[in-house]
Amino acid sequence: MPETPSGGITHAVRPEPFDNAQDRRSGAQAERSRRAPLIDTHCHIQTEEFDEDRHEVLARAREAGVDTLIVVGGAGDLSTNDAAVTLAEQHAGLYATVGMHPHDAKDVAEEDMDRLRGLTGHPKVVAIGETGLDFHYDNSPREVQREMFDRFAGLAVERRLPIVVHNRESDREVAETIRNRGGGKLEGVIHCFTSDQAAARSFLDLGFYLSFSGIVTFKNADGLRDVARWAPLDRLLIETDAPFLAPVPKRGRRNEPAYVRFVAETLAQVRGVGVDEIADAAGRNARALFGLPSGETPGKP
Ligand SMILES: [Zn+2]
Ligand SMILES: [Zn+2]
Repeated sequence: MPETPSGGITHAVRPEPFDNAQDRRSGAQAERSRRAPLIDTHCHIQTEEFDEDRHEVLARAREAGVDTLIVVGGAGDLSTNDAAVTLAEQHAGLYATVGMHPHDAKDVAEEDMDRLRGLTGHPKVVAIGETGLDFHYDNSPREVQREMFDRFAGLAVERRLPIVVHNRESDREVAETIRNRGGGKLEGVIHCFTSDQAAARSFLDLGFYLSFSGIVTFKNADGLRDVARWAPLDRLLIETDAPFLAPVPKRGRRNEPAYVRFVAETLAQVRGVGVDEIADAAGRNARALFGLPSGETPGKP
């Protein structure tokens, strides 16, 4: 990837680049350019957990070779969607999604849906989500979760955007909604995939991607590593779900996009390939699914 000597720092009115000038002076970028860049396809760095040090978090992501982030809205309350879009506006390499987590499905009013529909027209909004079903916590009644997921799936088809699906103990119902609502036109990803191989098969058959998170690094996750070993290379994505689910060796701390490298390393290890092969494939898949520009030049808004 070519250097851009005229980085964003001299253009005060431009969006702030997802990069920093110090890297270019230190030669850190030359080191990074020997590695395939990574994409964190699911993080919530717009939330208050990152208010104190968001700038440093982004700098550490760059330092770790992570050049693209999908900032996922609908994590907590409706304002996280606006915050995701605003953050994506401010930084090259950052994109947003808009939706509402199944936990909070019960709190979505009709005017909220109108507001989200409006946001889908923003050029940096690349998907609907997160949405889906969570029958483990049942924070919203299942009927309400189902209705909301169905509506978001419909919105994704209408707006021709992919969908970012949260699925916990609801494999069958998630697949049914994708099948019934999508009619073959719905594309998307099962984020933070933790189900078994049979469920993986059913999602792959629907044309969906499987995204692996820090859970794949956990000691007790042999079953998930088996799925990660078996999953087709052209159907896998990687993510952090930051601030949640920090991978080993950061487990228990606040997660951040830089740590997506640990997920890539674990996938590489279980599949017996190099990290760059995973980074290349996951990057290609993410660009295809979310319609991201290829070879984005950091520093250019
Ligand atoms: Zn989720
Ligand atoms: Zn999430």
